[in-house]
Amino acid sequence: MVSNAEVVVVGGGLEGLAIAWALADRGVRDVLVLEREGLCSGGTAKSSSIVRCHYGVASLAAMSQRGVELFADAEEILGSDVGYRRTGYAVGVGPENADALRANVALQQSVGVGVREMSAADMRELWQGMYVDDFATFAYEPDGGRGDAYLLGMAFGSRARELGVRVRQQTPVTRLLTGDDGRVSGVETAGGERISAGTVVLANGPWSVALAEPLGVDLPVWAQRAQIVMVDPGEPLGEVPVFSDLVSLQYVRTEPSGELLFGNSDHSTPEYADPDTYRNRADDSFVEMAGEKLAHRFPSWAEPRMITSYAGCYDVTPDYNPVIGPAEVPGLFLAVGFSGHGFKLAPAVGRLVTDLIVDGVSGDPAIPAEDFRLARFAEGAPLVSRNPYAGAGQMR
Ligand SMILES: Cc1cc2nc3c(=O)[nH]c(=O)nc-3n(C[C@H](O)[C@H](O)[C@H](O)COP(=O)(O)OP(=O)(O)OC[C@H]3O[C@@H](n4cnc5c(N)ncnc54)[C@H](O)[C@@H]3O)c2cc1C
Repeated sequence: MVSNAEVVVVGGGLEGLAIAWALADRGVRDVLVLEREGLCSGGTAKSSSIVRCHYGVASLAAMSQRGVELFADAEEILGSDVGYRRTGYAVGVGPENADALRANVALQQSVGVGVREMSAADMRELWQGMYVDDFATFAYEPDGGRGDAYLLGMAFGSRARELGVRVRQQTPVTRLLTGDDGRVSGVETAGGERISAGTVVLANGPWSVALAEPLGVDLPVWAQRAQIVMVDPGEPLGEVPVFSDLVSLQYVRTEPSGELLFGNSDHSTPEYADPDTYRNRADDSFVEMAGEKLAHRFPSWAEPRMITSYAGCYDVTPDYNPVIGPAEVPGLFLAVGFSGHGFKLAPAVGRLVTDLIVDGVSGDPAIPAEDFRLARFAEGAPLVSRNPYAGAGQMR
């Protein structure tokens, strides 16, 4: 069987479906999404889905801000609730990072983010019982909070289908096809079907590497295992903000049930993994470390207990930032390497890829496409925070 599409998107996760939606929303409706399993069954299903604009890279802060704007109007734009809850987002740093935090707050404000610096006393008001004496200062985003990457991805997929996009699940792409001119001309699926396409977008996370490699496109993307522990704090926490603790290197967010999601922000010893066979539960040593970090930060909890745990994989790049844009092979676009922070960027990723396919340039002056070019690695010009936090890993 032979079929075709103007654009084929490989990967029906959050980013692929955001791209399909944004293309269709701009009138490019001959789009085919090919997903090897079920929609949003990859990294998206494991996302902590934290909404924050706290970055030291202006374009990333602006992309998150576009995400917040879409989440707030999701019912109107996508026709469904995407789980966005405006609980607020706070980040705390020690004295060595206070100046960097202030510089980052100013950078975020310059691209329109609603964020302010706040004191330890303010933090204690937002979260009673938190031990705050080892923090120097905090930043607070009232519009931050939590979302739901799965709901968002499915909402993009649903709206894209309403606009005419075709989606095929259980359809792994096994090979990219090229014409005599070297241009990517389509894909071949595991069923042997050849689908011709004007443009192919790789939005399949760490699995993109194997498809790009035969074309000489070397994607520096690895799967990095990320463990999560769900905790019953043993007491009602009420409406507390999502919190990034850059002293103990942990992040916490509440579930509507009152349970607490714990994630580790210490990436100093990354565990690279096979995204198809990694261990899907937290290790005992991780659970122990989570218990110690939580006990330090929340000493008033009488009897916290672990409810469950799981693990996912980030698709990380050397600078922990995504690759978005054309590959050196004509006809091929990339949207990969989201490095554990692609959830709230997704609405802007969809728009950026669409602008690049249709116009060849970003339509948003605050989001220059050059920032995300693949060539930055070969050029030795990684995309890094203008105001990095000492000892706080690569994540912001
Ligand atoms: C534990 C964890 C916590 C996270 N927390 C946050 C957070 O708090 N905030 C935030 O912003 N981000 C967070 N993220 C990151 C965010 O969730 C991801 O960046 C985003 O969901 C990735 O979407 P994706 O579409 O790129 O990848 P995926 O969801 O992995 O989608 C890729 C899809 O491609 C499919 N595929 C693979 N190969 C093929 C093929 N050959 N043919 C067809 N289909 C194929 C896969 O089956 C998969 O469905 C987190 C991620 C993890 C793992």
